[in-house]
This record gives sequence, structure tokens and C-alpha cells, in this order.
Amino acid sequence: KPAVIKYNISRDDIIIGRILGEGFFGEVHEGVYKKRTGGEKISVAVKTCKDCSMDVKEKFMSEAVTMKNLDHPHIVKLIGIIEEDPVWIVMEICRHGELGKYLVQNQPNLPNVTLVLYAMQICKALAYLEGLHMVHRDIAVRNVLVASPECVKLGDFGLSRYIEEEYYKASLSRLPIKWMAPESINFRRFSSASDVWMFAVCMWEIMSRGQQPFFWLENKAVINHLEQGVRLPKPEECPPTLYTLMCRCWAYDPQERPKFTELVCILSDAQKMEKEQEAE
Ligand code: ATP
Repeated sequence: KPAVIKYNISRDDIIIGRILGEGFFGEVHEGVYKKRTGGEKISVAVKTCKDCSMDVKEKFMSEAVTMKNLDHPHIVKLIGIIEEDPVWIVMEICRHGELGKYLVQNQPNLPNVTLVLYAMQICKALAYLEGLHMVHRDIAVRNVLVASPECVKLGDFGLSRYIEEEYYKASLSRLPIKWMAPESINFRRFSSASDVWMFAVCMWEIMSRGQQPFFWLENKAVINHLEQGVRLPKPEECPPTLYTLMCRCWAYDPQERPKFTELVCILSDAQKMEKEQEAE
């Protein structure tokens, strides 16, 4: 089926419900989408664009276009776009919301086996993006959504871009310093290797059950610490092998960091180990 038909949905087919969250461009609502063929009703999330000037609309739409080309079990699926004002992006709903909040709320009930599962799923999504030569640039638990207690998905492409060259030079604003690789902070260089660094920070957030990375430092102090070789400490209940893995991802030289494909293998082994230990 051509993409044009697939994404051509009508506003009349959607009933908007309560607000799920606040986005950069506007609110994200819960909704119901009634399919024309068969009349099947599905729950969706609808992203709206509040002050949609031409400029903003372009950015908002480019986010949707990026999502439209992706198809992965751990990336939120785009269902459709309504291009006439007010622009709506209709996507798959993840009922349990942001992973960061979910981790904090469910702390005592989350065993390591589940945490490693989340890390592995995010890693698989990132390996998929790397295969498409895409750099995400904003990997953090706040941008991961929980579809079910056993399934998380990458949900935010606000900062991501296709890259033609090896690196993409970014603008200064809205940078998540505490998640960023040194070359991203110093030279605004973003690559799959800097995504690997960020992924390890995200993994640290997961293994510490929702703590803020470097909450004890100010943004401007972070780069000095990194330059001196200081890294995030091992989260209390994190298996040492996984902490060693994170530290490899925090190699100062981007070329020394592991690739996502390797990380997927190591994490799926670690997940099996945790499963076996749990069964004992
Ligand atoms: P930012 O760039 O600041 O992260 P954004 O514009 O990209 O914001 P999102 O983070 O994607 O917006 O969405 C805002 C909030 O809406 C999320 O934190 C989440 O609570 C909710 N939300 C977004 N997408 C979904 C979804 N598919 N299912 C359920 N909730 C969602």
C-alpha cells in the first residue's frame, strides 16, 4: 500500500479525550480512532500543535515524517497525520506513560530482570536506527514510553535528524548536558557513538530506578568532571558486569565505544542470566 493512502486519515474519525501529557509543541491527548474499513475502534495518542506558525508547523511535521518511515516493535508507531490546521499527529498509545516516572512509581516492584529487559528493548530500537544512519540525540528515560509492564518504546523524535555526514552540528538550545558525550558538549558533534554514550546514561537511569544522572552537579560542572575521567557511579543494585558495560560506553574516545549491535548481544545474555537467577 502506498504511504499516502495509509496515513490519510480524517479528523472526523477521531474522538479526542483527556490530556496525557504536555509536549514541546502542544498537548498530547488520549483518543479513539475509528477505522473507515470495518469500523474497528482503536485507542490512540494525538499530538497537537498549539501555536502552529508556519515555522513551528514545519518542525512539528518533520518529526512526524521521521516517525512515518520507521517500523520497529520498540519505537512508537505513527498511525496518521492530519495536515490541515490544526495539525494532529496520531500515534500508537503507550498507556503507562513516561518510563522515568514509571520507574519512580514502581520502584520496589521492579526486579533487575525487568530493568535489563527495558535496556535491551531500547538498545534494539537504537541498533535499528543506527542501521538507517539515524542519530537520535536525546536518549533518556523521559523519552521512553511504557506500553506494557513488559514493553517499552522510544517515543520522542523532537531532536532527531537524519544525517548525511558523519556528524551533525546542532544548535545551542535545549541540550541535555548530563546525558551528552564530551564531544557533543564541546563541539556539538553527534553520531551513533554519542548515542551509545547517551544510551549508557539512560541505562544508568533505568538501573538506578529513575534517579537523575549527576543530580549532585550543575550542568556547567559536568564537562570538567568528564574530562578528569569522573563517571556516574554504579547504581546500588546494578550487576557489576552491566556497570562495566556502561563504563565502556563512556570511553572518552568515541571510536573506543561499543556498537549498538554488540550491546544488544551482551544485554540479551545479561537478561537471560537475570532470568535464570530469578528462577532459582
Ligand atoms: P519534549 O521534546 O519536551 O520531550 P515532545 O513535544 O516531544 O516534548 P513528548 O515527550 O513526545 O512531547 O510528549 C509529551 C508527553 O505526552 C509525554 O511525556 C507523555 O506523557 C505523553 N505522551 C506522548 N506520546 C505518548 C504516547 N504515544 N502514548 C502515551 N503518552 C504519550
